[in-house]
Amino acid sequence: MAITKVWLDESENECTMCGACEAVADSVFAVPEKMVVKAGVDFSKFESEIKEAADGCPVATIAWAVDGSDKRANP
Ligand code: SF4
Repeated sequence: MAITKVWLDESENECTMCGACEAVADSVFAVPEKMVVKAGVDFSKFESEIKEAADGCPVATIAWAVDGSDKRANP
């Protein structure tokens, strides 16, 4: 089970541009306005940081999926 996709999921809430994800994992996330996932990142190297950032996002707009799936794996 490796994280292979990370994205901004605004299906229920909007990113508040708080910057918390970038503070946790600036190798993966940038918040120039709304959060963006940096290009070319090997997510498998940052799994704990991605999960921590997703868990800490106040509006749960960070989604991740595993093993090539497009289905959000985190709550
Ligand atoms: S932690 Fe969540 S709300 Fe805050 S900037 Fe990142 S994605 Fe947006």
